[in-house]
Amino acid sequence: MRVGCGYDSHRFVEGRTLVLGGVGVPYERGLAGWSDADAVVHAVIDALCGAANLGDIGTLFPPGDQRYRDVSSIALLEQIIRKLESRRLIVANLDVTILAQEPVLAPYVPSMRASLAFAMRLDEGQVSVKAKTNEYMGFIGRSEGIAALAVALVESSH
Ligand code: MG
Repeated sequence: MRVGCGYDSHRFVEGRTLVLGGVGVPYERGLAGWSDADAVVHAVIDALCGAANLGDIGTLFPPGDQRYRDVSSIALLEQIIRKLESRRLIVANLDVTILAQEPVLAPYVPSMRASLAFAMRLDEGQVSVKAKTNEYMGFIGRSEGIAALAVALVESSH
């Protein structure tokens, strides 16, 4: 068994759609980034990369590469899952914590779990997503952006 942790954060900007865990979340701003800036999926990808020792999202999918301009991060996650499968690694479970002062994310958590589970070919029972505020402290608390943490356990199927 191998464990990996991932972290990501993105700034809010006007004029973009907020996408978290592959789910569009209604809000007045979206997140800045080269891809769709889905901080949740980015943290998940880095957790998987950490567990499988594949490097990190920035080296695998470099910002500035036109192939990844506005790309759906869920599609990148599916690529990582295929990489794991080619190494005979399967995901045992995933646990995600989203830090966002706003918008309120609880109504979207079930859809995020379903979206992540589908992309990773897991049962929803293997995918945990939790959302919390930052008690008005720091950049999260000032609603300047969103951060996400992920932990993944990966097993060798050899
Ligand atoms: Mg990112």
